[in-house]
Amino acid sequence: MTRQEVDSLLEKIQAYRQSFLITKTVIAEWRRVLEPYDSEDVNKKLDEFFKNTEENFGRYPDAYYLTKYLKRHDEKLKVGINYVRCQICQQPVELTEYDKHYDRCSSIEYLCKIAEKYYNRKLNKKELWKLSDKDFEEKYWKVCEELQSGQQSEQQSEQQKYSLENALSTHKGGKPHEFKISNTDISHKMRGVYDD
Ligand SMILES: [Zn+2]
Repeated sequence: MTRQEVDSLLEKIQAYRQSFLITKTVIAEWRRVLEPYDSEDVNKKLDEFFKNTEENFGRYPDAYYLTKYLKRHDEKLKVGINYVRCQICQQPVELTEYDKHYDRCSSIEYLCKIAEKYYNRKLNKKELWKLSDKDFEEKYWKVCEELQSGQQSEQQSEQQKYSLENALSTHKGGKPHEFKISNTDISHKMRGVYDD
């Protein structure tokens, strides 16, 4: 944060807590502590502090409280190198976590699409992210099974039915089936995928 940014932050605190004293020492100390951090991050923490009227009514925030759990500007730059953007959700993801993230992210995307298309329901992505791997897997395959056996299967194209059936059977440890519909064109193409 620049000096000016710290100064206006102090003024902001005074706007909410009129008895908050801005002395020379206060200014110097806050500047020293806040300098390594990004203004945006600290201001966000301050807003959260004031918004939490239940706990913070009448209380003053302090510089160390506001920077707790925040990454310093230089730390953010350093970790920035190891981040990649997920192609699906556009969120930055740590490189080492990417495969795992992508797997869950694409499955969530699939579930949401299915829910909207066949069940006319909007799923909560945040809630799906909160699930443990085990719970998510269970939910995911349950939906796939329902989709395969329920009435929704009538709305699917042969190709969709085929890939679903294949996904389910490989999930259960089976081998991928060969594509068996009369349309020779697709059949030919799909078979090609599994002919090594
Ligand atoms: Zn993603």
